[in-house]
Amino acid sequence: MSSDRPSRHVVMFGRPGSGKSSLAERLGDAHGFRLVRTGEMLRAAIRAGDAIGRQAESLIAQGRLVSDELIYQVLSNEPTVFQSDRLLFDGFPRTLGQVPLLDRLASEIGFTIDRYVSIEVSAEEALRRMTGRRVCPQCGATYHMVNRPPKRDETCDMDGADLRRRADDDPEVLQIRQRVFDEETVPVVEHYRKNTVDRFRSVDGGQSFEQVLKAIEAALGLEPGTASKLM
Ligand code: AMP
Repeated sequence: MSSDRPSRHVVMFGRPGSGKSSLAERLGDAHGFRLVRTGEMLRAAIRAGDAIGRQAESLIAQGRLVSDELIYQVLSNEPTVFQSDRLLFDGFPRTLGQVPLLDRLASEIGFTIDRYVSIEVSAEEALRRMTGRRVCPQCGATYHMVNRPPKRDETCDMDGADLRRRADDDPEVLQIRQRVFDEETVPVVEHYRKNTVDRFRSVDGGQSFEQVLKAIEAALGLEPGTASKLM
């Protein structure tokens, strides 16, 4: 692949509170990425009250990770998600045990990850930011009361539903989620930093939202803020 071709398949890493999900949404809107979000798939299963949702609910509320097997199940249940020539993985892989699951999906479906992007923010800054996060209970859109506020008060721009704090954004749970990230996901980031040096990029997540977005776009070889065409 030539170095100036935009990345098609991307994995984004960032601790809870790094802005990763909001950044992924903007990248999806601006550049046509299909988002693959295991957290959102699990929350949809909880809303539907199905078997996966029942297994995931209390773990998510406590800030713990669900098992690698359950993650493989939710991903396998949604094969249409992968029918896109631009995928952005947001929240997977999250443990070293999930690294081979991504390899397996990539070889079964036939794609290659061309960028691993790590948004780097300190745990203290991440905690400060997370207190502003809100989500729409109906459609799952995410907002931030400072960085990405809804147009009207605390209501969703898409469907007007009252925005909520996620159950796992409770202050005590936030601390647990930071610890889980350090213990389970930092080793995954370090794995790719070390083993895929040419495809790995780290971005300073301590800048403003728009600056971080631009830095990620540059890391992916995308023109800022434009819907770049697939080549
Ligand atoms: P997220 O929306 O990505 O922050 O995910 C919310 C919660 O879903 C996490 O705190 C975990 O409990 C669970 N979860 C999401 N993705 C994964 C994953 N890849 N592995 C294990 N648990 C996950």
